[in-house]
Amino acid sequence: MTDANDIIIIGAGAAGLMCALEATRLGCRVKVIDGNGLVGKKIRISGGGRCNFTHLGADKANYLSENPDFCVSALKRFPPEAMVAWMEARGLEYNEKTPGQLFCSGARDLVAVLERECEAGHVELCLSEPVLAVEKKGDIFEVLTKHKHLCRAVVVATGGLSYASLGASDLGYRIARQFDLRVTTLYPGLVPLKVNDKGIHAMSGVSIKARVTSGGRSFLDNVLFTHRGLSGPAILQISSYWREGEPLHIDCWPDGDVLCFLQSKVDNAHKSLKTLLCENLPKAFIDYSIENAGRPFKQYSMADKERLQATLHDWTLVPTRDSFDKAEVTCGGVDTRQISSKTFECLSVAGLYFVGEVLDVTGQLGGYNLQWAWASGLLAGRAIGAAYKPRP
Ligand SMILES: Cc1cc2nc3c(=O)[nH]c(=O)nc-3n(C[C@H](O)[C@H](O)[C@H](O)COP(=O)(O)OP(=O)(O)OC[C@H]3O[C@@H](n4cnc5c(N)ncnc54)[C@H](O)[C@@H]3O)c2cc1C
Repeated sequence: MTDANDIIIIGAGAAGLMCALEATRLGCRVKVIDGNGLVGKKIRISGGGRCNFTHLGADKANYLSENPDFCVSALKRFPPEAMVAWMEARGLEYNEKTPGQLFCSGARDLVAVLERECEAGHVELCLSEPVLAVEKKGDIFEVLTKHKHLCRAVVVATGGLSYASLGASDLGYRIARQFDLRVTTLYPGLVPLKVNDKGIHAMSGVSIKARVTSGGRSFLDNVLFTHRGLSGPAILQISSYWREGEPLHIDCWPDGDVLCFLQSKVDNAHKSLKTLLCENLPKAFIDYSIENAGRPFKQYSMADKERLQATLHDWTLVPTRDSFDKAEVTCGGVDTRQISSKTFECLSVAGLYFVGEVLDVTGQLGGYNLQWAWASGLLAGRAIGAAYKPRP
């Protein structure tokens, strides 16, 4: 058994580390426990190693949740600009890929800063120590690993179920249920979609710009064909909104009407349809989606043209979702109606906090998930620092 700490944070990811730094800054004695041997494993690989750490436009419209207003307060109190200021104060460089979407020059540098600050703040790190269970005895929590750790408050920062190879577990949801908190339906988000079609698999590596629509949501971005189905930003985005069994509608000619385009090429009507469409679409995709595209366009009847328009503007298919191990995030989580949006403490269990991805707050692609992790972690740390006064 170890001495009682003020707080134990379960999970040394973005949310847990931010929480630890803020609470120690305010004088708390903090222990962070993680099953991994390294801190911030997901941060290290995020954004392909360049870590898309925030999005300047982050707002409730960029998050999925059964309780959409929950994230508003945190995003106001620790907005993306505050995260940018945090990076700048530490000399961490970043760049803007698309408007508002900010990437670090190296995710490892960011993790190194977090590690250094944990050390300077005397955060006690217990790594390679999976947490098995949490129990509450009176005002004290017992956090059980191969050891028994005691504390006055527990922060559950265990993330979601995606990428088990990076330490993901269902512990956070188990703790929630144990304390009678509801967990909303969990499913892989920002995940590739599988399609059982050899023609699609054969196009692996080819991409098109498309507008993908399902469940009343649309995303205009690249669609990448893979040996399992569909990926790329437009697919990852829609995957969080798409429901199993529903059709996906893909407009493969999203910047106008394909027939208008072809009519504008009337001087070239002797050319094959494929040659004309190749201005905007890859040859492999034209061969896959349009029969006899080698015919001169002038031979196309009205019915052929209408078929072509439907094929390109409303390609409809019913995919299946890939697994959690291919998903950037877990959609759903601990029901936020049972959590304070100011402190992240559970409304019915004093001293029990939930932050980051384990909550039912899931960001779109673009830096929104890390922004949520930083904001919720830091603000919980601030609330804990105020509530659990430093010991003499
Ligand atoms: C491949 C990939 C790329 C991504 N890229 C981006 C990006 O560029 N931008 C962006 O905004 N988001 C990105 N995300 C999502 C983002 O990384 C996560 O939403 C965010 O890191 C969640 O932070 P967290 O602290 O809540 O959880 P995590 O970072 O998942 O941390 C949870 C920690 O809890 C630990 N843990 C779990 N169970 C236990 C247990 N039983 N005992 C002890 N420890 C435990 C885990 O080991 C882990 O270290 C990406 C995700 C993936 C998978």
